[in-house]
Amino acid sequence: MTRSHSPRTQPDDLILGAHMSIAGGVDLAPLRGRQVGCRTIQIFTKSSNQWRARPLPSDEIDRFHAHLQAAAIAPAVAHSAYLINLASADPALHQRSMAACQEELERAEMLGIPFLVLHPGAHMGTGEEAGLQRVAQSLRELLKRTDGCRVRAVLETTAGQGTTLGYRFEQITQLLDQIGLPERTGVCLDTCHLFAAGYDIRTPDAYHAALDLFDHIVGLSSLKVIHLNDSKGPLGCRVDRHEHIGEGTIGLEAFRCLVTDPRLRGIPMIIETPKDGDVVETDRRNLRVLQGLAQSQRAPRARTVRQH
Ligand SMILES: [Zn+2]
Ligand SMILES: [Zn+2]
Repeated sequence: MTRSHSPRTQPDDLILGAHMSIAGGVDLAPLRGRQVGCRTIQIFTKSSNQWRARPLPSDEIDRFHAHLQAAAIAPAVAHSAYLINLASADPALHQRSMAACQEELERAEMLGIPFLVLHPGAHMGTGEEAGLQRVAQSLRELLKRTDGCRVRAVLETTAGQGTTLGYRFEQITQLLDQIGLPERTGVCLDTCHLFAAGYDIRTPDAYHAALDLFDHIVGLSSLKVIHLNDSKGPLGCRVDRHEHIGEGTIGLEAFRCLVTDPRLRGIPMIIETPKDGDVVETDRRNLRVLQGLAQSQRAPRARTVRQH
């Protein structure tokens, strides 16, 4: 009897990719993405740990678009610089963060990138509620300043390290509500952050409970980007350290659930796993693991019949 081995038959709407370096120009990122088999890529549109950015030359933008198209990569996702803290109560730092975040929105728009992922910020001891208020007001202001742009500010759930905000679904919802511009906002779920923040996703039941909770509190329609990362730290550790897929404390089953969940089809899923050793080979390996999981049978859900 012959069993047909149809190789690499990924569903069309499973959009896997990786964060790619922009060393040498943003236009090189799609080429790097193609090299490792990305259908989506995430990039910084400028150096991630510097305030200043050189302007984007129009020929570089044109090449970026041409390379995306040639590599059949869509969508591209932007991630904002880590220095930005819209929750800061320090007027100078807040002012700088506003200017930098506006620039990030404008750069993403110029590049035709629909999503700018950003971390809500850290309250630095001034209290969570005050911090959340500042983030919401700041983003509302920035989205109004960039009125007419299509790029969305996509709030990433965090691990809750230090005084960072956005580690509870309720905080994300509060921000979205207070910003009040649903056509310009969205949410990015990061599996490592989710797990480090205390949301267990290791078994199918735990995964479905967590996703249902997200849907109930935030709403799946707001979910625009997913970061697939395993975690070095244990459940609830509130430490943000990424690990290769299946090699951390989350394990493969959660990722199988994610890549086979019909509710998440069409949402770009991006790895930000460690870039150690041969960067190309490492990204390829992590993506291959995910592609393999996508083709595997979904683990059966435990029966809901309670046994005593
Ligand atoms: Zn992330
Ligand atoms: Zn992280």
